[in-house]
Amino acid sequence: MMRLILTLIAGLWSASVQAIELKSVRSSADQDSSRVVLELSGRPQFSSFNLSNPSRLVLDVSNLSTSSLSAITTIDDSRITRIRSSVRGQGSRLVFDLGGDYRSNVFALGPKGRFPDRLVVDVVGYVAGEKASIRGESSAEPTEPPVEKRDIVVAIDPGHGGKDPGASSYGVIEKKVVLQIAKRLARRFQSEPGYRAVLTRDDDRFVPLKSRPRLAREAGADFFVSIHADSFPKNKNVRGTGVYALSLRGANSELSRWLQNTENADDLAGGVDLGDVDNDTRQVLLNMSMESAIRISKQAGQSVLNDLTDVGRVHKKQLGLANFVVLRSPDIPSLLIETGFLSNRSDAKRLSSSREQEKIAGAIFEGIKRYFEKSPPANTFVAWRKQNAGKRIVIEVKRGDTLSEIAARYNLSLQALKELNGLRSDVIHLGQKLEVPLSPR
Ligand SMILES: [Zn+2]
Repeated sequence: MMRLILTLIAGLWSASVQAIELKSVRSSADQDSSRVVLELSGRPQFSSFNLSNPSRLVLDVSNLSTSSLSAITTIDDSRITRIRSSVRGQGSRLVFDLGGDYRSNVFALGPKGRFPDRLVVDVVGYVAGEKASIRGESSAEPTEPPVEKRDIVVAIDPGHGGKDPGASSYGVIEKKVVLQIAKRLARRFQSEPGYRAVLTRDDDRFVPLKSRPRLAREAGADFFVSIHADSFPKNKNVRGTGVYALSLRGANSELSRWLQNTENADDLAGGVDLGDVDNDTRQVLLNMSMESAIRISKQAGQSVLNDLTDVGRVHKKQLGLANFVVLRSPDIPSLLIETGFLSNRSDAKRLSSSREQEKIAGAIFEGIKRYFEKSPPANTFVAWRKQNAGKRIVIEVKRGDTLSEIAARYNLSLQALKELNGLRSDVIHLGQKLEVPLSPR
């Protein structure tokens, strides 16, 4: 139901800030980069920027309790000479003093396995004086993925909820069916290696429109997709799906509103750095970021539209461009999908069928995934997998390994593993070398 989206713009941020603690600090380094991992008791809200003369990285974590900062000790690293900490507002500021003109990259990782929430700081660049010693070594050799290649995070936003039911017709209520479709979509991403889904709501609750992109940003989302159903009671024959991306029309006024709200600018993490720059520079940077988000939205939107066309009638054959509140994120590519018209009897029936919901979720999933497989963000597992596609590595048989277990570990059938290595039987011995494709997870 689009009218609601266009008119409902007021609202308070719903996410209350949860103070988190720093549990431990780990660091590691190789020829290309140094990495510091901050292990945290919860999800960080952070922003970072670089300063020069002397070179340093400033990392603000607005919900990190200062009482735990004593966990920060000196680390032995040639790129990061010192980490300092101080109180900033309700949170903490960490300053990484750098030994040279290095690039840096900060990103958050959610809990996984034995790891809690983490903030990862990568400082990239050759250490002066060490260049000679690495010359001649092959850096093209494929490697096992580092544990902390991050997932692509897809924020899924089921429209409406709670006191706002959205459209309804033939006994079908928008807030209910879009939540069901969103949950199916989330499950698809959760079971796909390299992807992680977050929902802006996972039950029947009211979430103000404007806080939805904000929740996505706090989750470090690479993509935002809002799920809705339409209604057009004047003509009950109108049916089918529609895909919308943000248009540049209206984007500029949105941008200036954003700029006025320094709270928003402080939220921007990764992508574009909005540190100590003046307002003009800030405007240029935000413009670039927004144009890039819009470009990605359009490409991914076209991809989703193609997949939706395969599973049912499409109301709008072209990608729609609109200025919806939930799409107004200068830094996160966003789509709004109208899954059908509840005012149309057959669409209403389709949207409440679990089989059809699964088809719709599958089409949206495939469309977004196809986009990211083509253009994965840096530092993600998907990017790493793409770079190493087709490469093989040699592994050594360890005590207790069986051929079928090794095959499973590398997503191969037993037969394929045997053929790859010219094996006639299933018998392997300790220390034996086997060739496997480089795509474990
Ligand atoms: Zn709606």
